[in-house]
Amino acid sequence: MAWLIKGREAVRMDFDSNYRMLIGGQLADSSEVIDVVNPADGLRFASAPDCAPEQLDAAVAGAQQAFKSWGKTDIKYRQNLLKKAGEALIAHADEIARLFTREQGRPLAGARSEVITGASWLTAYSDIELPEQVIDKGDGQYIQVRHVPLGVVCAISPWNFPINLSLWKIAPALAAGNTIVLKPSPFTPLCMLKIGELLKDIFPPGVLNIISGGDNLGPLMTAHPGFAKISFTGSTETGKRVMETAARDLKRLTLELGGNDAAIVLPDVDLEKTALQIFMGAFFNTAQICIATKRLYIHEAIYDEMKTLLIGLARTIKIGDGTEQGTILGPVQNRRQFDRVRALIDDAKASGLTVIEGAEVPKNGGFFIPITLVDNPPDQSRVVQEEAFGPVLPLLRFSDIDEVVDRANASEYGLAGAVWSSDVDLAVSIASRLETGTVWINQNLKVRPDTPFAGHKQSGFGIENGLEGMLEYMIPQAIYIPKPAE
Ligand code: NAD
Repeated sequence: MAWLIKGREAVRMDFDSNYRMLIGGQLADSSEVIDVVNPADGLRFASAPDCAPEQLDAAVAGAQQAFKSWGKTDIKYRQNLLKKAGEALIAHADEIARLFTREQGRPLAGARSEVITGASWLTAYSDIELPEQVIDKGDGQYIQVRHVPLGVVCAISPWNFPINLSLWKIAPALAAGNTIVLKPSPFTPLCMLKIGELLKDIFPPGVLNIISGGDNLGPLMTAHPGFAKISFTGSTETGKRVMETAARDLKRLTLELGGNDAAIVLPDVDLEKTALQIFMGAFFNTAQICIATKRLYIHEAIYDEMKTLLIGLARTIKIGDGTEQGTILGPVQNRRQFDRVRALIDDAKASGLTVIEGAEVPKNGGFFIPITLVDNPPDQSRVVQEEAFGPVLPLLRFSDIDEVVDRANASEYGLAGAVWSSDVDLAVSIASRLETGTVWINQNLKVRPDTPFAGHKQSGFGIENGLEGMLEYMIPQAIYIPKPAE
């Protein structure tokens, strides 16, 4: 139980039960519920509303109504409210983090950092300035080009970063003057429902709506004619279905989808330091990150040493319940993903590949999988070709830069990648040859609100973050004003 300060009154807010949706400025239950399971023991510990179709209609209608005035407000007014929303999140970071660990599985420190990072997106968009363009060539036309909001945004987010990836949508969409209906994943609805409750009185009714529900709700949302735009983060497979549905009435679309990111390690790196950084870049959040290293190409001169260091880390890093002291990595977030990752490991074993397992994991019904390294599998094996989205990493030997660039690019995905070398100029020249939206030199997993994030190839469609990301929630309007030629 925490205290919310509203005006002079202190109001109790309970983060541990009573999860309700935010629809038209009111908290709402529903007649049906979905179960929420703690991945650290596999047991149901809470339930969330299963939004009824009429409640979705009400959320969209309320958001359309709210858009009429919100879309016309001064951007500074909207940005000030976003800033307040960021402050509210920071003030309740500890309570939200505890809930986050229970529903998502990530250990507490990482859970708390998700809340703080999420708040930084709200703050960043409370500062951003929109470009205004004037075209005046002295030829009798004076043209003002401005950017106007689209209307009501349908936002759908996944379970791996349930807060951040939702705020990546909420912050730019609201700053731009849209209203929004957001649906978190059915596996992790609770934090965003509580964040909706926390922000209820900051935004005018209908501006921010947060609904939850089972597998039917996403398709109902994307087909709903009241939305002007869909912003979706999830798998490439689902993204294609969303795009098909959006085509029916030409809704605007941003898709952030899967990745199979390659990291290339040259022989001149500091081995111990790099091994630890690469390990965390591959396995943080139990490797459930779209931009995690998922194929690790190691130069043959250092392959064996790097492999030994990574095996050493895999055998010492503690995997367990995220609420326990000393736990670095938590469980896989849900049963479905657990089964998928296990199937990929079983396939690697059945194919005769060398599979190396790290430290033992708890056997208590939680969705735990040991860190698993696969020693130099063929490029065509499933463990190299598919996005694991779980703690299994193929180590791949290479000898030549042109060859490794071709192998890294031989993927339908193009989200991010990394190059590790003490020769930064060489690393940058390799980075510029990778067919991905983001490339890191001697680092990984860095993403910022002021920098565009775009998936190349089947990793996405459109852009999130930065001014470019915000402009995806707007459309240019050109006003032609006649003027005597000079
Ligand atoms: P998912 O595609 O199964 O689900 C994502 C969301 O879509 C959930 O909220 C789900 O309820 C909803 N959904 C499911 N079917 C739908 C449909 N037919 N229409 C509309 N919505 C539907 O993905 P997931 O398993 O939750 O997340 C993991 C995937 O997300 C991975 O592939 C990962 O790489 C990707 N991801 C990408 C990024 C990025 O920024 N590119 C970030 C995080 C995760």
